[in-house]
Amino acid sequence: MKKTILITGGAGFIGSHVVQLFVKKYPYYNIVNLDCLTYAGNLENLQLVENEPNYYFSKVNLLDEEGLKKVFHDFSITDVIHLAAESHVDRSISDPLAFVKTNVLGTVNLLNAAKTYWKELDSHLFYHVSTDEVYGSLGKDGYFMETTAYDPKSPYSASKASSDHFVRAYANTFKINTVISNCSNNYGPNQFPEKLIPLCINNIQHERALPIYGKGENVRDWLYVEDHAQAIDLIFHKGKRGETYNIGGWNEWKNIDIVKLICNIMDKKLGKEPGSSAQLIKFVKDRAGHDLRYAIDATKLQEELGWRPSLQFEEGIEKTIDWYLKNQQWLENVTSGNYKEYYAAHYQSP
Ligand code: NAD
Repeated sequence: MKKTILITGGAGFIGSHVVQLFVKKYPYYNIVNLDCLTYAGNLENLQLVENEPNYYFSKVNLLDEEGLKKVFHDFSITDVIHLAAESHVDRSISDPLAFVKTNVLGTVNLLNAAKTYWKELDSHLFYHVSTDEVYGSLGKDGYFMETTAYDPKSPYSASKASSDHFVRAYANTFKINTVISNCSNNYGPNQFPEKLIPLCINNIQHERALPIYGKGENVRDWLYVEDHAQAIDLIFHKGKRGETYNIGGWNEWKNIDIVKLICNIMDKKLGKEPGSSAQLIKFVKDRAGHDLRYAIDATKLQEELGWRPSLQFEEGIEKTIDWYLKNQQWLENVTSGNYKEYYAAHYQSP
């Protein structure tokens, strides 16, 4: 059976890389990008594939149950890769309910649409993309394993943990084929400049302060977004059904050290005095309930499926900075909100 894969959240940061990879690498699959285009969804991210004959876009909200069922029916969806979510921890602190709606209810709506539409459940796959934040926070030692107990600590991670539980519950109760991956922090092109790395790049260019929570001691494991997309491709095709895979970069950094690294590279690229960007660093009141450290053990993915990240962090950061410096218009459009006009101009005929 020819695959028609529904990729949700394809206009967002990670989703746009997954859509591009699948559209280009698998011209014999149909790829349907479902996205309601929140502030984080930007169709400009998909310019490279928007005219490909196997790419389709459908503007539907996960909360629209009928809309979801219609997409499954109209496109004869065979598989799902579910990335659409509210994804920013700070926003989850100011508006937790938005996260419950999209991440929990939205995921259940999608599972229901799949359950209703798919007649032979085991010939289809529902792939749920999740985060390492469901495991909570580590001390100085140790790693998150696939077997680590869930202990989410922010409204964002609680909503993602809940969605993971629903996916497993539907697999157990309704026999839907599922797979889940939990990945560490991503960075790279197309990331909305509210997250640490693009925020710093953008603010340095505009000589604005670089706000760092607390003392910048929090540790995250970072992965280049295209390496995450490659892992998703591998797990989608070769991952054992019903399993969970952790994805990580074996690449732990304190926030303050990342910001200093970006400052040093930006000083060189912008021809500034060494040390001048670092003067923009401003320590601010710590995020409420800020998790200290995340670190992923991705041995299972490496040993079972042979995946390893392809880029060293310094190389990936330089690539990312170059992308943002080259794509000033993209940055200008997302920070001013003008990117919404792209949808109006390209997808809504007058
Ligand atoms: P993002 O915020 O950049 O993109 C989310 C996309 O989902 C946007 O295009 C948005 O328009 C869409 N969306 C949001 N609510 C929707 C709704 N109700 N209906 C339809 N579409 C909706 O997010 P991201 O950083 O690309 O993350 C993608 C997925 O990967 C999320 O599930 C996230 O939890 C997970 N994840 C992210 C990271 C990371 O570092 N960014 C790490 C691990 C896992």
